[in-house]
Amino acid sequence: MSKLKSIYFLFKNTSVNILFWVGAFCFLAGCDESSEDQYSLHKTNKKHWSYQGETSPEYWEEIESNSECGGTRQSPINIIDFNAVPTEKSEQLEFHYSSEIQLKKAINNGHTVQFEFMSGDYIIYNGTSYNLVQVHFHEHAEHLMSGVVYPVEIHLVHVSSMNTITVLSILGKEGEESEVIELFESFLPLKMGESKTIDVKCDINQLLPLDRTYYSYSGSLTTPPCTEGVNWVVFKEPIILSLEEAQKLKSNMPLDNYRFEQPLNGRVVYLNSSNTF
Ligand SMILES: [Zn+2]
Repeated sequence: MSKLKSIYFLFKNTSVNILFWVGAFCFLAGCDESSEDQYSLHKTNKKHWSYQGETSPEYWEEIESNSECGGTRQSPINIIDFNAVPTEKSEQLEFHYSSEIQLKKAINNGHTVQFEFMSGDYIIYNGTSYNLVQVHFHEHAEHLMSGVVYPVEIHLVHVSSMNTITVLSILGKEGEESEVIELFESFLPLKMGESKTIDVKCDINQLLPLDRTYYSYSGSLTTPPCTEGVNWVVFKEPIILSLEEAQKLKSNMPLDNYRFEQPLNGRVVYLNSSNTF
Protein backbone atom coordinates (compact mmCIF):
# COMPACT_ATOMS: atom_id res chain seq x y z
CA MET A 1 0.00 0.00 0.00
CA SER A 2 1.44 3.37 -0.97
CA LYS A 3 2.04 6.03 1.68
CA LEU A 4 -0.71 8.14 0.16
CA LYS A 5 -3.15 5.22 0.29
CA SER A 6 -2.23 4.49 3.94
CA ILE A 7 -2.92 8.09 4.87
CA TYR A 8 -6.21 7.94 3.01
CA PHE A 9 -7.32 4.77 4.81
CA LEU A 10 -6.22 6.14 8.18
CA PHE A 11 -8.19 9.31 7.51
CA LYS A 12 -11.21 7.39 6.27
CA ASN A 13 -11.29 5.06 9.30
CA THR A 14 -10.69 7.95 11.70
CA SER A 15 -13.55 9.84 10.10
CA VAL A 16 -15.84 6.85 10.42
CA ASN A 17 -14.84 6.46 14.10
CA ILE A 18 -15.43 10.14 14.79
CA LEU A 19 -18.78 9.96 13.04
CA PHE A 20 -19.73 6.89 15.09
CA TRP A 21 -18.78 8.35 18.46
CA VAL A 22 -20.24 11.79 17.84
CA GLY A 23 -23.37 10.06 16.51
CA ALA A 24 -23.52 7.88 19.63
CA PHE A 25 -23.02 10.93 21.87
CA CYS A 26 -25.69 12.84 20.01
CA PHE A 27 -28.11 9.95 20.36
CA LEU A 28 -27.47 9.63 24.10
CA ALA A 29 -27.49 13.37 24.72
CA GLY A 30 -30.66 13.76 22.74
CA CYS A 31 -29.26 16.51 20.51
CA ASP A 32 -31.42 15.31 17.73
CA GLU A 33 -33.14 17.03 14.83
CA SER A 34 -30.77 19.30 12.94
CA SER A 35 -28.12 19.29 15.63
CA GLU A 36 -25.09 21.50 15.32
CA ASP A 37 -22.81 18.44 15.49
CA GLN A 38 -24.60 16.78 12.62
CA TYR A 39 -24.16 19.90 10.58
CA SER A 40 -20.51 20.49 11.36
CA LEU A 41 -19.65 16.86 10.59
CA HIS A 42 -21.40 16.85 7.29
CA LYS A 43 -20.77 20.30 5.98
CA THR A 44 -17.73 19.20 3.96
CA ASN A 45 -19.77 16.40 2.39
CA LYS A 46 -21.07 17.65 -0.95
CA LYS A 47 -24.00 15.27 -0.78
CA HIS A 48 -25.20 16.48 2.61
CA TRP A 49 -28.96 16.98 2.75
CA SER A 50 -30.52 20.38 2.30
CA TYR A 51 -33.81 21.97 1.27
CA GLN A 52 -32.78 22.96 -2.27
CA GLY A 53 -31.79 21.33 -5.57
CA GLU A 54 -30.20 17.89 -5.78
CA THR A 55 -30.04 17.42 -2.01
CA SER A 56 -33.61 18.58 -1.29
CA PRO A 57 -36.18 16.44 0.60
CA GLU A 58 -37.19 14.38 -2.46
CA TYR A 59 -33.59 13.00 -2.59
CA TRP A 60 -33.05 12.39 1.15
CA GLU A 61 -33.94 8.71 0.93
CA GLU A 62 -31.29 8.29 -1.78
CA ILE A 63 -28.45 10.43 -0.38
CA GLU A 64 -28.90 9.54 3.30
CA SER A 65 -28.62 5.80 2.74
CA ASN A 66 -28.58 4.79 6.42
CA SER A 67 -31.61 6.89 7.26
CA GLU A 68 -35.28 5.99 7.63
CA CYS A 69 -36.35 8.72 5.21
CA GLY A 70 -37.97 6.11 2.92
CA GLY A 71 -39.99 4.57 5.79
CA THR A 72 -43.74 4.20 5.99
CA ARG A 73 -44.35 6.18 9.22
CA GLN A 74 -42.83 9.51 8.29
CA SER A 75 -43.52 13.16 9.16
CA PRO A 76 -44.87 15.71 8.46
CA ILE A 77 -48.41 14.81 7.42
CA ASN A 78 -51.57 16.56 6.41
CA ILE A 79 -53.76 16.44 9.54
CA ILE A 80 -57.37 16.25 8.41
CA ASP A 81 -59.59 17.26 11.31
CA PHE A 82 -62.58 15.38 9.87
CA ASN A 83 -60.63 12.08 10.00
CA ALA A 84 -59.07 12.59 13.44
CA VAL A 85 -60.28 10.12 16.07
CA PRO A 86 -61.33 11.74 19.37
CA THR A 87 -59.32 10.01 22.07
CA GLU A 88 -60.96 8.81 25.24
CA LYS A 89 -57.80 9.26 27.26
CA SER A 90 -57.77 12.40 29.34
CA GLU A 91 -54.76 14.03 30.97
CA GLN A 92 -52.51 12.24 28.53
CA LEU A 93 -50.21 15.26 28.39
CA GLU A 94 -48.94 17.24 31.39
CA PHE A 95 -46.80 20.36 31.10
CA HIS A 96 -44.09 21.01 33.67
CA TYR A 97 -42.63 24.24 32.32
CA SER A 98 -41.13 26.59 34.88
CA SER A 99 -41.57 30.33 34.49
CA GLU A 100 -37.81 30.74 34.46
CA ILE A 101 -36.09 27.98 32.54
CA GLN A 102 -32.62 28.94 31.39
CA LEU A 103 -31.89 29.40 27.70
CA LYS A 104 -28.25 28.42 27.22
CA LYS A 105 -27.46 28.54 23.51
CA ALA A 106 -28.71 29.87 20.16
CA ILE A 107 -27.44 28.14 17.00
CA ASN A 108 -27.82 28.57 13.27
CA ASN A 109 -27.00 25.00 12.19
CA GLY A 110 -27.54 25.66 8.48
CA HIS A 111 -31.00 24.07 8.50
CA THR A 112 -32.80 26.12 11.13
CA VAL A 113 -32.27 28.43 14.09
CA GLN A 114 -32.28 26.43 17.29
CA PHE A 115 -32.44 27.40 20.97
CA GLU A 116 -31.16 25.00 23.62
CA PHE A 117 -32.20 24.87 27.28
CA MET A 118 -30.70 23.88 30.60
CA SER A 119 -32.53 20.85 31.98
CA GLY A 120 -35.59 21.51 34.11
CA ASP A 121 -38.59 21.84 31.82
CA TYR A 122 -40.38 18.62 30.97
CA ILE A 123 -43.66 17.09 29.90
CA ILE A 124 -45.30 13.82 30.88
CA TYR A 125 -46.78 12.14 27.84
CA ASN A 126 -48.68 8.87 28.24
CA GLY A 127 -47.00 8.32 31.59
CA THR A 128 -43.41 8.94 30.40
CA SER A 129 -41.35 11.99 31.29
CA TYR A 130 -39.63 13.86 28.43
CA ASN A 131 -37.17 16.71 29.00
CA LEU A 132 -37.29 19.81 26.83
CA VAL A 133 -33.99 19.93 24.93
CA GLN A 134 -34.41 22.48 22.17
CA VAL A 135 -36.81 24.64 20.18
CA HIS A 136 -36.40 25.36 16.46
CA PHE A 137 -38.35 26.79 13.56
CA HIS A 138 -39.57 25.95 10.05
CA GLU A 139 -40.91 28.35 7.41
CA HIS A 140 -43.44 27.63 6.05
CA ALA A 141 -45.05 25.00 8.31
CA GLU A 142 -44.35 21.30 7.80
CA HIS A 143 -47.69 19.91 9.05
CA LEU A 144 -50.75 20.85 7.02
CA MET A 145 -54.02 21.46 8.86
CA SER A 146 -56.82 20.02 6.71
CA GLY A 147 -54.75 21.13 3.70
CA VAL A 148 -54.03 24.60 5.07
CA VAL A 149 -50.39 25.70 5.27
CA TYR A 150 -49.41 28.09 8.09
CA PRO A 151 -46.45 30.42 7.61
CA VAL A 152 -44.44 29.15 10.61
CA GLU A 153 -44.05 25.91 12.60
CA ILE A 154 -42.21 25.70 15.92
CA HIS A 155 -40.87 22.37 17.18
CA LEU A 156 -40.27 21.78 20.88
CA VAL A 157 -38.08 18.67 21.01
CA HIS A 158 -38.38 16.57 24.20
CA VAL A 159 -36.31 13.47 24.96
CA SER A 160 -36.93 10.78 27.62
CA SER A 161 -34.32 8.95 29.70
CA MET A 162 -34.79 6.05 27.24
CA ASN A 163 -33.93 8.43 24.35
CA THR A 164 -37.44 8.32 22.94
CA ILE A 165 -38.65 11.58 21.45
CA THR A 166 -41.84 13.60 21.72
CA VAL A 167 -42.08 16.75 19.62
CA LEU A 168 -44.65 19.42 20.43
CA SER A 169 -45.53 21.35 17.31
CA ILE A 170 -46.95 24.85 17.41
CA LEU A 171 -48.14 26.52 14.22
CA GLY A 172 -47.78 30.26 13.84
CA LYS A 173 -49.79 32.79 11.87
CA GLU A 174 -49.18 36.47 11.41
CA GLY A 175 -50.83 39.18 13.49
CA GLU A 176 -49.85 40.75 16.78
CA GLU A 177 -46.29 40.69 18.08
CA SER A 178 -45.30 37.77 20.35
CA GLU A 179 -43.19 38.59 23.39
CA VAL A 180 -41.61 35.15 23.62
CA ILE A 181 -40.68 35.11 19.91
CA GLU A 182 -39.21 38.57 20.47
CA LEU A 183 -37.02 37.09 23.22
CA PHE A 184 -35.74 34.32 20.92
CA GLU A 185 -35.10 36.84 18.15
CA SER A 186 -33.08 39.11 20.41
CA PHE A 187 -30.21 36.63 19.80
CA LEU A 188 -30.49 36.97 16.01
CA PRO A 189 -28.99 37.46 13.52
CA LEU A 190 -26.87 34.33 13.49
CA LYS A 191 -24.84 33.42 10.43
CA MET A 192 -24.80 29.84 9.17
CA GLY A 193 -22.72 27.73 11.57
CA GLU A 194 -22.65 30.47 14.20
CA SER A 195 -23.77 29.94 17.80
CA LYS A 196 -24.10 32.17 20.86
CA THR A 197 -23.87 31.11 24.47
CA ILE A 198 -26.64 32.80 26.38
CA ASP A 199 -27.88 32.96 29.92
CA VAL A 200 -31.41 34.25 30.08
CA LYS A 201 -34.62 33.04 31.67
CA CYS A 202 -37.53 32.05 29.48
CA ASP A 203 -41.11 30.93 30.10
CA ILE A 204 -42.14 28.33 27.54
CA ASN A 205 -45.73 28.47 28.85
CA GLN A 206 -45.97 31.78 26.99
CA LEU A 207 -45.20 30.04 23.71
CA LEU A 208 -48.12 27.58 23.98
CA PRO A 209 -51.54 28.41 22.52
CA LEU A 210 -54.26 29.15 25.09
CA ASP A 211 -56.39 26.30 23.80
CA ARG A 212 -54.39 23.12 24.42
CA THR A 213 -56.45 20.92 22.08
CA TYR A 214 -54.00 18.82 20.11
CA TYR A 215 -53.66 16.11 17.49
CA SER A 216 -51.32 13.20 18.12
CA TYR A 217 -49.84 10.51 15.91
CA SER A 218 -46.73 8.36 15.55
CA GLY A 219 -44.24 9.73 13.01
CA SER A 220 -40.59 10.58 12.46
CA LEU A 221 -38.02 13.33 12.66
CA THR A 222 -38.65 15.65 9.70
CA THR A 223 -34.93 15.88 8.92
CA PRO A 224 -32.45 13.07 8.16
CA PRO A 225 -32.02 10.49 9.62
CA CYS A 226 -35.87 10.72 9.66
CA THR A 227 -35.93 8.33 12.65
CA GLU A 228 -39.36 6.80 13.22
CA GLY A 229 -41.09 6.18 16.55
CA VAL A 230 -41.38 9.90 17.31
CA ASN A 231 -44.53 10.96 19.20
CA TRP A 232 -46.04 14.02 17.56
CA VAL A 233 -48.30 16.42 19.44
CA VAL A 234 -49.56 19.14 17.11
CA PHE A 235 -51.65 21.92 18.66
CA LYS A 236 -54.83 22.70 16.78
CA GLU A 237 -54.79 26.42 17.56
CA PRO A 238 -51.96 28.46 16.05
CA ILE A 239 -50.12 31.15 17.98
CA ILE A 240 -49.81 34.67 16.69
CA LEU A 241 -46.54 36.39 15.83
CA SER A 242 -45.96 39.55 13.86
CA LEU A 243 -45.08 39.65 10.17
CA GLU A 244 -41.77 41.30 11.10
CA GLU A 245 -40.99 38.48 13.55
CA ALA A 246 -41.79 35.84 10.90
CA GLN A 247 -39.59 37.67 8.39
CA LYS A 248 -36.70 37.92 10.84
CA LEU A 249 -36.83 34.16 11.45
CA LYS A 250 -36.97 33.55 7.72
CA SER A 251 -33.92 35.69 7.04
CA ASN A 252 -31.89 33.55 9.49
CA MET A 253 -32.83 30.18 7.96
CA PRO A 254 -32.41 28.52 4.56
CA LEU A 255 -35.24 29.30 2.18
CA ASP A 256 -38.22 26.93 2.54
CA ASN A 257 -36.77 24.77 5.35
CA TYR A 258 -39.70 22.36 5.41
CA ARG A 259 -40.17 18.76 4.33
CA PHE A 260 -43.17 18.05 2.10
CA GLU A 261 -46.20 16.05 3.26
CA GLN A 262 -45.63 12.32 3.82
CA PRO A 263 -48.25 9.59 3.24
CA LEU A 264 -50.27 8.53 6.27
CA ASN A 265 -50.15 4.82 5.30
CA GLY A 266 -53.07 3.85 7.53
CA ARG A 267 -51.86 5.63 10.66
CA VAL A 268 -54.48 7.06 12.98
CA VAL A 269 -54.39 10.70 14.03
CA TYR A 270 -56.03 11.30 17.41
CA LEU A 271 -57.73 14.46 18.61
CA ASN A 272 -57.44 15.32 22.29
CA SER A 273 -59.65 18.18 23.47
CA SER A 274 -59.11 17.76 27.20
CA ASN A 275 -57.20 21.04 27.66
CA THR A 276 -54.83 19.81 30.31
CA PHE A 277 -52.58 22.42 31.91
ZN1 LIG B 1 -38.28 20.51 13.11
